[in-house]
Amino acid sequence: MKYETVIGLEVHIEMATESKIFCSCSAKFGAEQNEHVCPACCGMPGMLPVVNRHVVDLGMNAGMMLNCHINRTTTFDKKSYYYPDLPSSYQTTQWFAPVAVNGTVTIETANGKKDIRIKQIHMEEDAGKLVHDDWTDTTLVDFNRTSVPLIEIVSQPDLSSAEEVVAYLERLRSLLRFAKVSECRMEQGSMRCDVNLSVRPEGSDKLGVRTEMKNMNSLSAIVRAIEYETARHIDALENGTEELVQETRRWDDIKGKSFAMRNKETAGDYRYFPDPNVMPVVIDDAWYDSIKASLPEFPEVKRARYIDAYGLSEYDADMLTQSRALCDCFEAAYAECKNAKEAANWLISDCMNILNKSQKTADQLTLDGKALGELILLVLDGKVGRGNAKKILIAMFDEKLDPAKYAEEQGFIVSNDTGAIEAIVKTVVAADPKSVADYKNGKEKALMALFGKCMRELKGNCDPQVLQKLLKDTIDSL
Ligand code: ZN
Ligand code: MN
Repeated sequence: MKYETVIGLEVHIEMATESKIFCSCSAKFGAEQNEHVCPACCGMPGMLPVVNRHVVDLGMNAGMMLNCHINRTTTFDKKSYYYPDLPSSYQTTQWFAPVAVNGTVTIETANGKKDIRIKQIHMEEDAGKLVHDDWTDTTLVDFNRTSVPLIEIVSQPDLSSAEEVVAYLERLRSLLRFAKVSECRMEQGSMRCDVNLSVRPEGSDKLGVRTEMKNMNSLSAIVRAIEYETARHIDALENGTEELVQETRRWDDIKGKSFAMRNKETAGDYRYFPDPNVMPVVIDDAWYDSIKASLPEFPEVKRARYIDAYGLSEYDADMLTQSRALCDCFEAAYAECKNAKEAANWLISDCMNILNKSQKTADQLTLDGKALGELILLVLDGKVGRGNAKKILIAMFDEKLDPAKYAEEQGFIVSNDTGAIEAIVKTVVAADPKSVADYKNGKEKALMALFGKCMRELKGNCDPQVLQKLLKDTIDSL
């Protein structure tokens, strides 16, 4: 019998906010254990949570990016469960009126385009983190992560292969990075994905027994987990190797297997209950409109515009539209220098090299685009040589500076004094009769060697064409 896989995803995304969702503790990663805590996020009796407005901004933002309907009155509920990393014994989340519902995300795979329906997007708080210490055989709790804001994006069971899941997650990541909702970095845990999976005979409209898998830390782990779990389900159905039960399973990427964790709770087990301490959030027209107006152009719209309006190659447009930060910098640089190809080249090769060297991603680019445009103009106008411009660019990554002023201070301004250039050319040529002879005997490389020596003497501050011509003229006149 042929089987088909039915997959729905729950994706948790940590939002890019300064503070936590219901208190003013920092939401930043990487502090000392239990440094970012207060009575509210530690669930002390009598604490009163207050909703972080920026979390609602980002929740709406995500909802709009995924074509959802925004609930103009959105409320928070208690999801009760008992676990040591959850001090209040309930998670404050959204159940009855989540911020966004009924969206779609269009994905593209080798089989063409497909719409994946979004059931809902809700805002909620993260739990703390258990830290196991094998040496002393104890477990301690770090509450820094409690109440860090999350959005959970719940899809309908519209996905049917690992390939579609990867396309869906990449699409989500791209849209949410563009909207500056989150960096969505799976390896750092700011994007986590639970896979609900079942199989059924092809063409059947009845869903099979569903299992939920957790603990996949990369796209490739998700692919392996889906392939393993699909095979396990089919084997159970075909050969009766085991009885499938609805449960939550933990993926072990090293063993390449999933293991039963707990029987799947149903919604009833969580006793969802409106949280009386958190006021309903009413989104008025002004608020709604301001978020709508702040939405970015979709990456593929930008890509098409870069090709059509700016004449960029598909490759350049692809590279730039990987990252909102690159796009923003490119557009600001273009506005200044009006040369799209130059701006794209500087960003894709030079700026990316500098970022790579300091192990940063394109999204971490903080370069001032207008200043980059000014630097490009200095080069195009022949005022600064390319080699020196690259040195200026490196300095621009360290501090905000005016490229023209900095070039002046560093002595990077190209000299138009042909007399001075000629004098240096004559000295270099006189000192290297061998290269001159080689060149006269047809060795083009020898000219390049002389050219390099002159450029070094001139500290790069010379128009290469002017130098080339003076050099040739000088040798020809010998
Ligand atoms: Zn707190
Ligand atoms: Mn959740």
